[in-house]
Amino acid sequence: MLNESPVYSLTPFTMLDFPQKTACVVWFAGCNMRCAYCHNPEIVTGAGAKTTEDILDFLDTRRGLLDGVVISGGEATCYKELPAFLKQIKQKNFDVKLDSNGTNPAMIRDLFENNLVDYLALDYKASPCRFKNVTGTGRRMWDRFKETLGFLCKYQQGKFEIRTTIHTGLMGEGDIAQIISDLEEKQYQGTYYLQNYRHHDNGTLGHLPDQNNTIDIAAIPSPQNFTLEFRNF
Ligand code: SF4
Repeated sequence: MLNESPVYSLTPFTMLDFPQKTACVVWFAGCNMRCAYCHNPEIVTGAGAKTTEDILDFLDTRRGLLDGVVISGGEATCYKELPAFLKQIKQKNFDVKLDSNGTNPAMIRDLFENNLVDYLALDYKASPCRFKNVTGTGRRMWDRFKETLGFLCKYQQGKFEIRTTIHTGLMGEGDIAQIISDLEEKQYQGTYYLQNYRHHDNGTLGHLPDQNNTIDIAAIPSPQNFTLEFRNF
């Protein structure tokens, strides 16, 4: 049975989360990963409190005031009715950005092919050998992520960005180099954001190892075909 209130909460206004657009953020409850560093544990493990109708009613009050809607979470693609919901948002003439861990390749393909998403921020959580350690999930989820990444790099260049959160107790320069090499191989052409993990006062989803070292930025290879940007370093 579908969760009738899949949305945990709504942030009514942001200028930071959708490139070059004013937007609101819809936070979907629940996630199919268990990243220890996740700073939204209440969204990942909590129940939804708002219906999609609540969000659509809100958007009716923001026509002409907001450019777009950011769909985040949690992992919004866990909500099976997401395509139908996004169709209703697009019919109201809002642009849609989706934040995703990429583990629902069939839905992401469907969203792009039906013009239900304008931009996607994809989390490249870790290199294959660190994936389980970082996400708490195994090979099957890695394979699903890889399928999404392959589709995006082949057919949707310019419509997505890739980002990795770095907690140095979980990953090091060699893992980042491996991801960069994979993106080069797939001929990614956008920006790859490396985000330094920052402690949040509202806690994390799991127990984190100590961060006893920092990333040596000089040791990270410069990509040839895409841009590398560092956040919070
Ligand atoms: S950081 Fe991990 S656990 Fe948290 S919402 Fe994102 S994918 Fe889910």
